[in-house]
Amino acid sequence: MSKGRLIIFSAPSGCGKGTMLEQILKNDKFCVSVSATTRNPREGEVNGVNYHFISREDFLKRVENGEFIEHAEYCNNLYGTLHSEVDRKINEGKNVILEIEVQGAMNVMKNVPDALSVFIAPPSVNELRRRLNKRGTETQEVIEERVSQAEREISCADKYDYIIINDALEDAIDDFFSVIRAEELKSVNQPSLVSDILNK
Ligand code: 5GP
Repeated sequence: MSKGRLIIFSAPSGCGKGTMLEQILKNDKFCVSVSATTRNPREGEVNGVNYHFISREDFLKRVENGEFIEHAEYCNNLYGTLHSEVDRKINEGKNVILEIEVQGAMNVMKNVPDALSVFIAPPSVNELRRRLNKRGTETQEVIEERVSQAEREISCADKYDYIIINDALEDAIDDFFSVIRAEELKSVNQPSLVSDILNK
């Protein structure tokens, strides 16, 4: 069986990343890696499903043991991708999506050069602000913090292999699958194809 691919998937808050992932994961060739974090679970979040919720002490011990592919501090909490989550699934032929922020993404790009990286962006910063306002779940101050954070993240988007604008959800998902298909068709990813054609 051929191995799966490691896919870095980053998007600022309010870019529809969750909805996109929900659709992508309906395809059973894809799965997500469940990260470890020191932040507290939010209402409805389940340990082992959304995250592995662990203490800071446990997290730092695992860092020392080399259990993480990458880890980063974000809003005073630690987040990290565990080798144990990713390696087995890749060997089973699954494409493993890492839903991670920019700093962790840069580390994975450095450590795993053949990982595919995709950044999901809003059509504009004003549109992002409008969407966050429409959601109505945060105060104006929090919304402006998210917008500033998004601006910092978007300014790193050109470090990713691909940038997909999530304006219309269906188009963004089509773009994602086109990127995956293009990767599969790269000659380097089809090493035995030419001799197969010649020897048929
Ligand atoms: P939240 O606390 O809202 O679930 O996530 C905050 C940020 O941490 C999001 O940008 C999310 O993509 C990122 N994140 C989640 N898991 C990981 C991880 O394992 N590593 C890194 N570097 N970032 C992560």
